[in-house]
Amino acid sequence: MRYITTRSNDKSYSLREAAFAGLAPDGGLFMPAVIPAADLDEVRERAASSFADMAEYLAGLFFEGDLSKEQLRDVTRTAFDFPVPLKHIGGDLYTLELFHGPTAAFKDFGAGFMGRTLGLLRSDSQRLTILTATSGDTGSAVAHGFHDTEGIDVVILYPDGKISDLQESQMTTLGGNIHALRVDGTFDDCQRMVKEVFADTAFRAEHNVTSANSINLLRWIPQSFYYFYGWTLWQAAGGDEAPEIVVPSGNYGNLSAGMLARRMGLPIKRFVAASNANDVIPEWLRTGDYRPRPSVLTVANAMDVGAPSNYERMMSMTGGNIEAIRREIVGWASSDDEIRTGIRELYDRWGYISDPHSTAGYLAAKHHGVRGFWLSTASPAKFGEVIEPVLGIAPSIPERLARLLDRPKISSPIPPASPRLKEFIASI
Ligand SMILES: *Cc1c(COP(=O)(O)O)cnc(C)c1O
Repeated sequence: MRYITTRSNDKSYSLREAAFAGLAPDGGLFMPAVIPAADLDEVRERAASSFADMAEYLAGLFFEGDLSKEQLRDVTRTAFDFPVPLKHIGGDLYTLELFHGPTAAFKDFGAGFMGRTLGLLRSDSQRLTILTATSGDTGSAVAHGFHDTEGIDVVILYPDGKISDLQESQMTTLGGNIHALRVDGTFDDCQRMVKEVFADTAFRAEHNVTSANSINLLRWIPQSFYYFYGWTLWQAAGGDEAPEIVVPSGNYGNLSAGMLARRMGLPIKRFVAASNANDVIPEWLRTGDYRPRPSVLTVANAMDVGAPSNYERMMSMTGGNIEAIRREIVGWASSDDEIRTGIRELYDRWGYISDPHSTAGYLAAKHHGVRGFWLSTASPAKFGEVIEPVLGIAPSIPERLARLLDRPKISSPIPPASPRLKEFIASI
């Protein structure tokens, strides 16, 4: 499989080139040169055996020439060794829970796959630095996906004081090859610093710096897999041929991976882009004007993105035609108050405890009367700070997360300036 970019198909790239570059040299995002077609009978059969088995088949459609059969099997078995249940909440309400992985958020799918695959694509003599900006969940998933990978250092930037205690613990308690930096600024500052370092090609080459953000192909492509799995479960539950799928969104890596699945032949009626007050995409779908702007802080902070990178992939897959886009995606934004009310409603009516991000999905599903399901992107356990004041009870914390809270947090403070980030990278 060769890869092109969202801005040009004049030149194509190998998986290695695309995976190590992260962002394409022309400033665009990498895309498969040809989107492979999935055999849905095969998908159904494999999914009935396990998520990992199905993922091995789908990953093979992209990566067969780059990884051996044994490697594909090994990567998918180890990256996807947790359950992915479709929960019936009540009435027409269903949600696909994507938060049963090691860090209890859907980003485990992409990060776990990328960590293991990059370890295999790296040549033995090459030392790599993975640089990533996080608004909460990316950092912890990447930290766990890459922890103890031979020859790879991970540098994680997060906005100081703007992520939850548990999220911070997940990034700052692993140590070893995982280096956490707390930035005196916003998530957009973190993203900009990372972009500026990536723009310095000489520095990058010298220190072998690459990204693990959701824009990286190795994180983006595996996020298409659970759409297939959710579809098989939805059909098994008696659902229509083509469900509507609601995606709680921030940087739109998740939703655009769903669009990829659809182009591989998966029957999805349409997507609902569920946002918080950072409603750049719902507004664009409504008015036709795309107006990126600084993010605002909300109770669903992993979706606090004001300039979503994957807008380019959405444009590239649809040819940028707004009418075509509107047939495929509708939007809905929820305020903090609405999200809190939604948390209350899910609990009072159905006894279901939902995190703020997934609750934005529920609210969008309710608004549009969706026949299908919303994706639950994080465990409520990670957002006790939001949930407890609303419900008066704390969500229970799975044992694998509780252990982290007792460990000392280790991170270094840094101003929102890329020269300081370069100094840090050079010092590792
Ligand atoms: C990252 C994240 C999102 C947003 O996903 P995107 O791919 O950036 O749109 C939603 N919910 C949670 C819990 C997340 O961690």
